[in-house]
Amino acid sequence: MMDFIVPLAYLVATALFIFALHWMNDPKTARHGVYAGVAAMVIGIVATWLEPEVVHHLWIVVGMAAGVALGIPLSRVPLTAVPQRTALSHAFGGAAAGLVGVAYYYLWWGHNPGHLTTFRTTALITENILGFMTFTGSLMAAGKLQEVKWIPQRPVTYKGQNVVNISLLVAAVAIGIWVIVHPTTALAAKLFPVVIGLALLFGVLLIIPIGGADMPTVIAILNSYAGLSAAALGFVVDNKLLVTAGALDGSSGLILAIIMCKAMNRSFANVLFGAFGQVQQAKQLEEGKTYKPETIEGAAQVMEQASTVVIVPGYGMAVAQAQHKVRELYDQLKKRGITVKFAIHPVAGRMPGHMNVLLAEADVPYTDLVESSDINADMPQCDVALVVGANDVVNPAARYDKTSPIYGMPIIDADKAHTVFAIKRSKNPGFAGIDNELYFADKTWMLFGDAKKVIGDLVKQLSDQGGIH
Ligand code: NAP
Repeated sequence: MMDFIVPLAYLVATALFIFALHWMNDPKTARHGVYAGVAAMVIGIVATWLEPEVVHHLWIVVGMAAGVALGIPLSRVPLTAVPQRTALSHAFGGAAAGLVGVAYYYLWWGHNPGHLTTFRTTALITENILGFMTFTGSLMAAGKLQEVKWIPQRPVTYKGQNVVNISLLVAAVAIGIWVIVHPTTALAAKLFPVVIGLALLFGVLLIIPIGGADMPTVIAILNSYAGLSAAALGFVVDNKLLVTAGALDGSSGLILAIIMCKAMNRSFANVLFGAFGQVQQAKQLEEGKTYKPETIEGAAQVMEQASTVVIVPGYGMAVAQAQHKVRELYDQLKKRGITVKFAIHPVAGRMPGHMNVLLAEADVPYTDLVESSDINADMPQCDVALVVGANDVVNPAARYDKTSPIYGMPIIDADKAHTVFAIKRSKNPGFAGIDNELYFADKTWMLFGDAKKVIGDLVKQLSDQGGIH
């Protein structure tokens, strides 16, 4: 009976994982995607538990209890901390795959050496290297994003760094190959932990030259490594669900990393070896340029007379948690018959989809969320661009200034609108550490202050002006 139920359950779980990824492509179906993913995971766990070789049930319960105890606080972190939370999940995934592999290697080495075929040992070494480097790499990435004191945020670089890193990886692979060729010898059992040690060290050294700006991209790459590690472990323990789920995880992580690299106009190699943030100097604009502040009353009046308003949200909207006030502003403008759209840049904020998630939370109709590549053609016809805590993603220097660290990054052409209002708290630069000429342009007016407060005041002003509540 179990011979039939378990493979069927694995098939259902695999299909649900695929649907989960598919449904997450669209905000309309994203929630279904989450439920399908959870259902697939539950089915996968229960089906594996039913496998006849699982005999130590108590340890499974202990493991699950530990997972739940860690998972509950992890699920409660604020949205702005999701990148580091995700990195921690990858660290656990990598460690789990690696540790299961270690257990199997020594179990078979001691009791059933015939199981250590070349194929299985190759899969074991592959998943150990990937799993353990993902573990330390993801911990470092999470630490950098969380701004843990003893982990330097800036890229740490030294001469010959890439040679050292690559030599370390080559050494781990070379020793691993020796273990693959002589898996059952006494020396192989001693060398196995050396491979693990080198992989752990490689994970740390891989991340220290990478700056915080590239960390979300690196996390997507580490996600891919954790997935590949799980897929390789699936071959070791002959579990087909682990192979497919790991492969889906590995490929989706890679695709996400590629999308993020494209959105920032960076290459993979540049992210991994470029030490972004170290070499580029923060570029300041010439002295003498001044900001023109505007009052809430003045801004509200201009907006009221507009026929099209494009709101450009950025990291500042997330920090201020201004999305609900932004939604109220949207309602006020819509009630006046004004066309309101949101220009969504793929790397606005600090994680992919950051703006989409916040605006969905505030029930902004997703049909009014427009990708930057689609909205740019309409920007010259737009009466007002309202920049809410965005900076780098609207910096025109990205289009022409070859010395700028963001040169080549596609931006939202807010500067092409007739009038620009920009909300930020100070004259400080954004993530890339560079000034933004948009704020000094003749058509731009600054609304200094916390985004939630400024938008709240705008809403109040509009409702007072128009008597619309
Ligand atoms: P940004 O360039 O970091 O600018 C955010 C602006 O928000 C700052 O200038 C800041 O100015 C303002 N701000 C902060 N708190 C605020 C508050 N409470 N109220 C009002 N304004 C506030 O953000 P962005 O334009 O969204 O660009 C994202 C950057 O992150 C890009 O450089 C991108 O490459 C990078 N990045 C993103 C991702 C991703 O996945 N999304 C991944 C990696 C890197 P004040 O301090 O003056 O208020």
